[in-house]
This record gives sequence, C-alpha cells and structure tokens, in this order.
Amino acid sequence: MARRNTDASAGDDAGSAASWRTVAGLRRGIGVRLLIGVLIFSSVITLIMTAVQLYMDYRYDLDQIERRLDEIGEGYPDIIGESLWHLDREQLRIVVESILKLPDVQAVTVRETGTGHPLQIMARRRQSTPVITRELPINRVVEGKLKQIGTLYIEAALTDVYRRLMGEALVILVSQGAKTFLVSLFILLIFSRLVTRHLATIAQFMRRYDFHHPAGALALKRRPPATPDELDQVVMSFNDLCTNLRVAYHNQQTANEALKLDVAMRIRNEDALREAEQRYRELFHNMPMALMLMRGNFDIFPALHKAGVTDLNAYFDAHPDVLRRLMSAITVDEVNARSVELFRARDAAQLVGPAGRLWTESPGTLRRAFESRYHGEARFDEEMKVVALDGRVIDVLCTLSRPQPIGSHTPTLLGMIDITDRVRVRDKLQQLETDLAHAGRISLLGELMASIAHEINQPLGAVAASAQAMQNWLNRPEPPLDEVRELTALTLASARRASDIIVRTRAMAAKSKPRRELIRLDEVVDEALLLLSHEIQARGVEVWHRPAIFAPRIMADRTQLQQVVVNLTVNAMQALASHGVRHGKVVLTIAVTAAGQVSCTIEDNGPGIREDNLTLLFNRFFTTSEGGMGLGLAICRTIIEAHGGRIEADNESTLGGARFTFALPAGE
Ligand code: ADP
Repeated sequence: MARRNTDASAGDDAGSAASWRTVAGLRRGIGVRLLIGVLIFSSVITLIMTAVQLYMDYRYDLDQIERRLDEIGEGYPDIIGESLWHLDREQLRIVVESILKLPDVQAVTVRETGTGHPLQIMARRRQSTPVITRELPINRVVEGKLKQIGTLYIEAALTDVYRRLMGEALVILVSQGAKTFLVSLFILLIFSRLVTRHLATIAQFMRRYDFHHPAGALALKRRPPATPDELDQVVMSFNDLCTNLRVAYHNQQTANEALKLDVAMRIRNEDALREAEQRYRELFHNMPMALMLMRGNFDIFPALHKAGVTDLNAYFDAHPDVLRRLMSAITVDEVNARSVELFRARDAAQLVGPAGRLWTESPGTLRRAFESRYHGEARFDEEMKVVALDGRVIDVLCTLSRPQPIGSHTPTLLGMIDITDRVRVRDKLQQLETDLAHAGRISLLGELMASIAHEINQPLGAVAASAQAMQNWLNRPEPPLDEVRELTALTLASARRASDIIVRTRAMAAKSKPRRELIRLDEVVDEALLLLSHEIQARGVEVWHRPAIFAPRIMADRTQLQQVVVNLTVNAMQALASHGVRHGKVVLTIAVTAAGQVSCTIEDNGPGIREDNLTLLFNRFFTTSEGGMGLGLAICRTIIEAHGGRIEADNESTLGGARFTFALPAGE
C-alpha cells in the first residue's frame, strides 16, 4: 500500500514534471514564438494601417473645415457687408452667432475697416489650440467701385477633429488587437494540431530510438491526408533514414567485429613476430657458433635461368667477370659475439662490410655456394678455410642457410664452426689409415712375395733362354736373322712383362700419398689378378672376372682399390685352401647398382662366414686364421669408405661360399 502511495506520488511528481516540461516546452516552443511573431507583426501592421487611416481622416477633416470656411467665405460676406454698411449691429450679431454654431468654428469676429472707431462684433465659443484661421474681406460697391468695408475673421479649432480621431484610433486598435490576438491564437491552435504535436511525436520517437532494439516504423497519430503532405514526407524520409541507419549500423557492427578480430589477430601476430624476432636475436647472438648475416645481389640469376643456363660452373668459367661481380656484391650486415671471437676481431664493426676476405682461402667454396643458391637450395654445407684478422688460418665448417623462397636479395645466414682441431685429428687419422693401408699392402706383398718372385723369374728365365739362343744363332756363319728378329720380339715381351710386374709391385709397396683419378673398376680387377696370377696358378683355383664394359668410371686411388681387390681375392683363396676345397672357384663381377654406383662382388665356393662373425669381420684384429692379423678387411673398409662407398659381406653367393661386395659412386 505504502508502495502504491509512493508510486502514486512518484506518478504525480512525474506528471507535474511532464506538465512543467510541456509548459517550459511551450514557452520555448515554436507555437509561442509564432504567436509572438504574428502578434508583433500584426500590431506593427495595425499601427501602421491605423496611422495611415488616422492621417487620411485627419486630412479629410481638415479639408472639411477648409471647405466649411470656404462656404462661409462664399455665403456670409454679402449679408455681413450689407449689415456692416448699415451698421446693423443686431443683424451682425445674429450672423456671427449663426457662423459660430457651425461645427469646429470657435471664434468669429467682424471688424469694420477704414474708420476711426471701427465697429467690431466678436463671438467665441472656447479657447484652444491649434486653430485654423481665415480672414475674409467684406466688400461693397460704393459709388460704382468695389470697396473693402470690413474683415470677417474666423477661427476654427481642431479639438473635435482630434477627439474624433482619438476615438477612432481607440476603436481601431482595440478591435484590430482583439482580432489579431484571436487570429494568432487560432493559427497557433491550427499549427499545433497540424504540425507541432506531430513534430513532438517525431522528436519523442527519435529521442527514444535505439539502434540495438529498433521499434517499429514512425507513424503519426492522425487521419492520413488524401495525398501525402510535407509531414508524411518527413516521416517517410525519417523511416528510410532509420532503415538506412540500421543497415549501416549493422554493417558497421559487422565491420567492427571483423576489425576487432583483425586487430586481435594482428596484435597476436605482432606479438608472435616480436617474440620470434627476440628469440632470433637471442639465438643469433648467443649461439655457440659464429653467425653472420650476409646480403648479396643475385639479380642476374633469373635472367640466367631464363636463358637456360643450367651449369653455372661452366658459365662462371666463360664469364669470370660475372663471378667477380657476384663476389664483390656480398656484404656482412651483422655478426654475433662468437664471430668476433673466431676472427680475433676487436669488435663486430671490424667484420661488418664487404665479405670478400671470408673466401680468400677457399674461393671454390663460394663458387659452389653460388651454384647451390642458383639451384634454389635452402642449405649449403662445406668445410673451408678462413683467415682470421691476426693472419691465422682456421678450418671451419661453413653452413649457409637461406629462407625460402629465395629472391634476388634474400639474406643468407652464414654459420661457422671452428673445426681446426678436428681437421688436425682427422688428417692425422687419415695419415694413420694411409700408413696402415700401406702396412697392409706391404704385408700382402710379403705374403705374395714368393708368387711375385716366381712371376718375375719366369719372364726373366725366358729372356735369359732367348738371349742364349740368339747368341748361338748369331755365332753361326749365316745367322738366321728372321728367327733372331722373332725371338727378339718375344724376349722384349717377356722383359716387359717382368718390368710390368716390378712396376706394379713397386707401386703397391710405395708409400705415396693417395691420388684420385678417373679409372675403370674392371682395369683395377685386371691389374690385381695380374699380380695374383702365379698365386692363383699355384693354388689351382679357378678365378673368373666378369666385367661390365659400359660401367661408368670412378674417381679413386688405383693402388688402394687394387689392394682391396687383391685382399678380398687372397682371402677367398685362403678360405678355399683352409677347408681343402678341391675345385676352388672365385668370381669377380663388376656391375652398376640401381642407385647408379659401380659395384664389385667377389664370391667363392668356400665355407662361407659363420653367421655370428658377419658383424665382426670388418673390425680391426678380427681373424679366424692362424697367423692372420685381422687387419685386411678393416683396411678394405677404411679405403672404400674414404672413397664414399660401402663394403659388406654375406653368404648369399650362388657359388655357395662367402660374398663380399663393395660399391663406389660413379665419378662421371
Ligand atoms: P686375416 O686374413 O688376417 O684373418 P682379414 O681381415 O683379411 O684378416 O680377415 C678376417 C677374417 O674374415 C678371416 O680370418 C676369416 O675368418 C674371414 N674371412 C675373410 N674372407 C673370407 C672368405 N672369403 N670366406 C670365409 N671367411 C673369410
């Protein structure tokens, strides 16, 4: 109950507030301003019109008075002249009194002229100003001549005129004022009914309009006119505007949402980018390897691709200026602390700038790096030598990485790891392995010495026998020159054969540096078998060589590969002998593998290899033979792997014994 009271009082308050607003609104409203405007305008017009009207009436009244005075001047002078001639005072008084009775006349005086005691009759009604006076001569024909005998003086007052005009003005003003007020009020009512209340409705609708929850269309509370008027046009325009605004608002909201998402995504992306950048910076500067950010100008590459250049190396040979230009365009933009350390520089600034000095010791590396970039490779690794700022030469493993896609100006990240110690150890190891291989060869030659000696002895024996025969023939009186010639040729062949074997044995025994050349694996097998020919014969083993005439050549050290073939063949023959195989058979097959490598398989019909020894065979000092050192296969593996190949053993030979296969990459 109390609540209802409160509501009611609140409602009253709201009502009074609303009516106060209405009154205030009315005071400020168009209607009141219209009313005031109409009133002021009408009043001004009324005043002007009244003033004009009064002025006209005033003129008219003046004219009336003038005309009346004129009529007096026309009608009375004769009678007054007659009465004045006869000095008839009574008659004159009657005439003067009758003139005084005329409207607006306030004083009349008749005065005789030309005598010492002029007769004067005067009558006055009142005394007020302003006045219109008229002095009329009174004439009479005396002795045939017109003579003025007196003067009629008339004074007309404007008091009545003014009173009349005042009354008239009052009537006009009151009636016009009332009329103006009523008309204005009526206009105000009509205007309010026709326009103002609808404007208020529109204003209220607009005030309450909410884009989020739009009400229905705006409609005026009135009977619609036959043809839409200005208010209908306003309503229609407003409704159209609302629809357009709603659509625009909706579009704007959609765009805002999209923008918000876009902005959020951008912010996320930017954060991620910043983080990535930060991580990259930290990585770049704290990586435990020398890093350099480099730039070059490779604008020429697309043109070369277009021109169909595939062999950039050959192109560089033909156009050294292009290579020089590319080299000189490379600059170092940024280096990390490890680079400063590696190059023994004072600070990073010493290393930033042209990058030419990086490649002075290994120009080939830069050339190959260009080729790799030309072929769109994201990475390039190679060992190279660089010169530090103090002149020391350092071995480094250089890694170039280029972000994809690689454009003409895409920067390159150069990473360098100091491998000087590693290279030194590796060189030492290589030297040791070379020495070991050499020792292996010497031991192999030792094993074969008897055969080799026999191999050399045989042609030497033939040479000696031939020389003896020739000497006998030459001692004859007629030496048989044709036979001598024939035997000389045979002798020469035998001597060459002996010399050949010595050369090969020497070559195998020599401690020369490994030397790579393009050779045929079939030739290597032939030469190895030549060295072993006596051994083979002595052991009574059947050895077959199945060549591959069209196999590509390989880039290898001839002596080392001979050593491998001799080793594997001797091993096979030893295995055959150790098991007393009667018809020993060894087959050497050259082939091209599916991967394009050139392989050599040496298989026998011996006992094969024990399954559990298969994984141990290539270990150093693994041997099953008495007096064996167990180095032969280990040396073979070192040699083959140093040539970038692989060697393996199994028991898959079709001959029934062991099978050793090594494969080497084609060199052409
Ligand atoms: P060594 O000949 O001094 O024993 P190798 O390294 O040449 O050393 O050989 C290691 C071992 O491999 C040999 O002792 C032998 O047991 C085994 N082996 C090598 N070739 C063959 C083969 N063709 N058949 C059977 N076993 C073999």
